[in-house]
Amino acid sequence: MRVPFVAANWKMHKTVSEAVSYVTAFRMHKYPASNVEVVLAPPFTAIHATAQALAETTTRVAGQDLHWEATGAFTGEVSAQMLKEAGASHVIVGHSERRHVFGETDEEVNRKVRAAIENGLTPIVCVGETLTERESDRTLAVLDRQLKGGLKDVTGAQVGDAIVAYEPVWAIGTGRVATPEQAQEAHAYIRSRLAQMFGINTSEQCRIIYGGSVKPSNVAELSRQPDVDGALVGGAGLEPASFAEIVAKSAVATV
Ligand code: PEP
Repeated sequence: MRVPFVAANWKMHKTVSEAVSYVTAFRMHKYPASNVEVVLAPPFTAIHATAQALAETTTRVAGQDLHWEATGAFTGEVSAQMLKEAGASHVIVGHSERRHVFGETDEEVNRKVRAAIENGLTPIVCVGETLTERESDRTLAVLDRQLKGGLKDVTGAQVGDAIVAYEPVWAIGTGRVATPEQAQEAHAYIRSRLAQMFGINTSEQCRIIYGGSVKPSNVAELSRQPDVDGALVGGAGLEPASFAEIVAKSAVATV
């Protein structure tokens, strides 16, 4: 039985004080903590304050990206160790905005995934096709390439502990959500590829979460799909009440 995993990706939103106010409001909402794992991904500048504000709760903090080197002349970059010491336990890798706005390649995603794991951070590895790729029937081929490239030289045990986020690019920030059937088809495919690459135990253990215009109104139906193990939430994760509702509905839908 996989415990649902729900993360809010704040992207480039929230200052330190706004992050702390969010956490104060979010902590007022109750949900069955044993039935769901919850992560907030603030911008780098607010990671430490967010982690401190979440002290003594089960909610964890993620970075939104990292560099694969530990230190060096990489202006503007942040390493896994820096994220960890600031209070992160997870890190998003290969988000579609990193891939498509900043040109990140599968090879770079792979370096980042390995750096995260080597430093004790759980990677949330994002994969997903563009609209053009879906419309030209290349969805599964794209997922296959991203999984093979992104998870190269990672062990089955490490993949089992990681999170894979299926985020169709056409559904991110567009209000156009994948149907539960489209999500299930992609998630089942990802799980079958993980089984082929790493074995059945890994594929059964790894949480595969859905991202792309998730809201309180659609999360329950998505989460009821057998291979959907939670959600990566952008816009609806910026407001504590709506994110809390998504968390509560994810916990209930999958129990
Ligand atoms: C995301 O940024 O990962 C995302 C899924 O955004 P949204 O929920 O706004 O589509």
